[in-house]
Amino acid sequence: HSLSVTDYLRQHIRTVPDWPAPGVQFRDITPLLQDPKVFRVMIDAFVHRYMDRAMRPDVVAGLDARGFILGAVVAYELNVGFVPIRKKGKLPFTTVEETYELEYGSATVELHADAVKPGDRVLLIDDLIATGGTMMAGKKLLEKLGTTVMEGAAIVDLPELGGSARLRASGLPLYTLVDFS
Ligand code: AMP
Repeated sequence: HSLSVTDYLRQHIRTVPDWPAPGVQFRDITPLLQDPKVFRVMIDAFVHRYMDRAMRPDVVAGLDARGFILGAVVAYELNVGFVPIRKKGKLPFTTVEETYELEYGSATVELHADAVKPGDRVLLIDDLIATGGTMMAGKKLLEKLGTTVMEGAAIVDLPELGGSARLRASGLPLYTLVDFS
């Protein structure tokens, strides 16, 4: 029998109820990395999209921390560089930073000031889009350095939280592999 890539990947994402807080359905992508066949199908879905001449980025930026796992492999396969967008306080050199609001409090992400060049076309990767706040902060950070974020990519979208709609409304095209409602 044949299964779509979406359904195949969906079957390998584990839902953990009430973690890390009551009411949250945590979509755990680690089983998908653990199985070499599934890992390859997932990475290839991204690589096939971005290896086209018109879609090829100059650089891949990954969001802390699961965006590093995906983003580094995709960048390697595309033969482009990888840059990490980290939670504040981890990067040793000169950085630019962006603070964004969370449900309770705020968070700050940082990028090395020399990680990208003005005019670069950047692919921004994370594992999952919920409220979209993290990806929006990454986009703003990359734009501060004069780059264009050509697309945001993630394995999972939670469309009911409205993040993906907000990101698209801000002018960021998105490519995601699996939706959960
Ligand atoms: P947001 O900024 O609200 O779009 O949240 C996205 C970030 O938080 C990503 O880096 C995800 O890894 C993580 N995240 C948020 N909600 C979930 C969830 N329900 N399951 C797994 N990860 C989540």
